[in-house]
Amino acid sequence: MKKINLLGYSLSDLEQLMLDMGEKKFRGGQLFKWLYRDHQTEFELMTDFSKELRQKLDEKFEFKSMQLLHSQTSEDGTIKFLFNLDDNLPVETVLIPDFGSERKTVCISSQVGCAVNCGFCATGKMGFSRDLTAGEIIGQLVYLREEFGLDAFSNVVMMGMGEPLANFDNVVKAVELMLAPTGMMLSRKKVTISTSGNSPKIKKLADTGLDICLAISLHAATQEKRVKIMPIAETFGIEKLMQAIRYYSEKSRTQVMFEYIIFDNFNDKMEDVHALAKLVRGLPCKINLLAYNPVEGLDFKRPSEEKMNWFGGQLSPRVPVVTVRKSRGRDIDAACGQLAAKQQLGRKLDV
Ligand code: SAH
Ligand code: SF4
Repeated sequence: MKKINLLGYSLSDLEQLMLDMGEKKFRGGQLFKWLYRDHQTEFELMTDFSKELRQKLDEKFEFKSMQLLHSQTSEDGTIKFLFNLDDNLPVETVLIPDFGSERKTVCISSQVGCAVNCGFCATGKMGFSRDLTAGEIIGQLVYLREEFGLDAFSNVVMMGMGEPLANFDNVVKAVELMLAPTGMMLSRKKVTISTSGNSPKIKKLADTGLDICLAISLHAATQEKRVKIMPIAETFGIEKLMQAIRYYSEKSRTQVMFEYIIFDNFNDKMEDVHALAKLVRGLPCKINLLAYNPVEGLDFKRPSEEKMNWFGGQLSPRVPVVTVRKSRGRDIDAACGQLAAKQQLGRKLDV
């Protein structure tokens, strides 16, 4: 009989499972701690359970994270992991160490491919295959802790493949597992969701009360420009988007981050600086500038470093905080927007 994989089961799922097995509910809490906090996957070694219960669990269940196909390490220490899902689809995770500090950021995926189809993104070009389950989302983190220990990463960003808010329920379930005080125990300040801007879902996320950090892939400061590169802007216009962001910011009392990719000769002029500053006026926020990372087959151009610095210099006196993000892992296609499971583009893996 094939064992059931408990990866992705929440505390209440495990409590119910114990009740169904004729055990007390609190056993679910014990199992939850073993699996997500202690990363103990051998039921045999769960010493606070009777021998009989350990045996019963072992007969029916398992806790398996992800199957690694291969990993690649960049010159700058960034590591890209390619995982094979149960239905042989590929998904990628990127671990970005920050030398000189304790910070290690892991960039996880929420979908295989993406249906939003932004004009500059390799994942978008790959098309959409399916949503990841909560187990497959949290499994990327579980894998890293099993492999590299509890301090494998300090920060989690959902900036890998996929649009997290388009897979809302599974993403929220996975975030709950990340934050659970007897689970992965991450602070809400260390978990970021990045979205291309689905306004109703941003409000819905605010209403969950999870209060994690929110990053918005803005990339253009006017509706007119934004629709040219992001088809989602046709459905969710920039005004409604800003309303949703203000709602999120007030409700969660967090500083929202705007991602602004600079494309050479598209959104890199003084008028763009003014439009951006005007758009975010009065909002506690951070603007993160990044240079376009070239994607095969696309016509955009990467801006020069001088251009990036000029834009940042003009913007910084006009908005609360500006940072310029260094591209990491470009040599292994692990930088923003370059994730597309290259070898398997849009196909199922044959392993
Ligand atoms: N779908 C979500 C999260 C994944 S994309 C979102 O769009 O926010 C992660 C980040 O990479 C986003 O900010 C996205 O706009 C950016 N990105 C996509 N393609 C890029 C490229 N070619 N160069 C630089 N950044 C890119
Ligand atoms: Fe999807 Fe984000 Fe890429 Fe747009 S930038 S296609 S939303 S992954």
